[in-house]
Amino acid sequence: MATVHFDRVTHRYSGAPAPAVDDLELEIDDGEFLVLVGPSGCGKSTSLRMLAGLVPVESGRILIDGRDVTGLPPQARDVAMVFQSYALYPNMTVAQNIGFALRDTGVDQAEAAVRVKEAAELLALENLLDRKPAKLSGGQRQRVAIGRAIVRRPQVFCMDDPLSHLDTELRVRTRAHIATSQKHLGTTTVYVTHDQVEAMTMGDRIAVLREGRLQQIAAPRELYGDPDNTFVAGFIGSPRMNLLDAPVRDGAAVLDNLRIPLPRSVQAGGRVVLGIRPESWEVTADPATGLTVTAQIQELGAESFVYGHATSEDWRSRTGNVVARVDRRFRIALGDPLHLHPKPDEIFFFDPETESRLR
Ligand code: ADP
Repeated sequence: MATVHFDRVTHRYSGAPAPAVDDLELEIDDGEFLVLVGPSGCGKSTSLRMLAGLVPVESGRILIDGRDVTGLPPQARDVAMVFQSYALYPNMTVAQNIGFALRDTGVDQAEAAVRVKEAAELLALENLLDRKPAKLSGGQRQRVAIGRAIVRRPQVFCMDDPLSHLDTELRVRTRAHIATSQKHLGTTTVYVTHDQVEAMTMGDRIAVLREGRLQQIAAPRELYGDPDNTFVAGFIGSPRMNLLDAPVRDGAAVLDNLRIPLPRSVQAGGRVVLGIRPESWEVTADPATGLTVTAQIQELGAESFVYGHATSEDWRSRTGNVVARVDRRFRIALGDPLHLHPKPDEIFFFDPETESRLR
């Protein structure tokens, strides 16, 4: 077990106009499950590969348990990597595939057998130890690949979007296997995913990256409830937070028929971006106090969302669609007007230029 420190780490691929990872400063606690999340191309894999020693560090340092490993080859780092695609040996059984990770490590056969059994139990593979990979599901194969990392008992697990090839149900189940095993083993883990739901359900903390730069690092609930900028606000949460550009007049943001007084601490210029989550709207009967939209309803069973199109010309150009969560019994005819009112305590304010949160 170990701490991990990305000490202002940068990497630029040759010929690229901008660094893939730019001045990344990140401290990961001993035993922590840290998720790196962000859209495709934001530098997640490059960060992970630098930690594993597969991509060189251009500037900055990487420390594992206080030891500078920046210039060390992968095998000298005591890091085990789990990749997106799992290359299992087709002629070996599950047990042999897992045990193979211990070749040339000095671990004797008896100890290897103990470790394979332990990993198999953790990953619910006990009954499959004699099977060949061709007779496993995608989720089972990925668990075998994770088993290989586990038996090595490394200081750090690096997982590069290991569930991205699985269908939804397998993803959810395999997620649970990974999270439980990690908690049981207490091994520091850096986990890359592009899926914010996966990040929210697995991470002790989540680091959000955008174009190679760290945007925010926080526990899932804090990231959702207290985003630092519009990027994090929009990325975490589904459907995404409504980000509505509004003029400020006499200390209040004006949103169609709504007047939203700015908190005294918020220093806004002529405009402000209002952040309102789908669940933070109330549907009102009063057109005079709401944002008037024509709505289309999407029923998902347990909950429903209305996608509203602003009726005022001015608002349509500013906001596009507005999404609001409504009671699942809520009914509305297609195209009927609806009046939305944000819950006053649940509105976020952002600077339209810097995109930073105004608090
Ligand atoms: P992510 O894992 O978030 O999808 P990556 O770390 O793979 O992002 O990529 C970050 C950026 O670096 C992207 O712009 C990508 O196109 C570029 N990149 C990744 N790998 C290479 C490579 N081997 N050579 C050149 N550019 C690369």
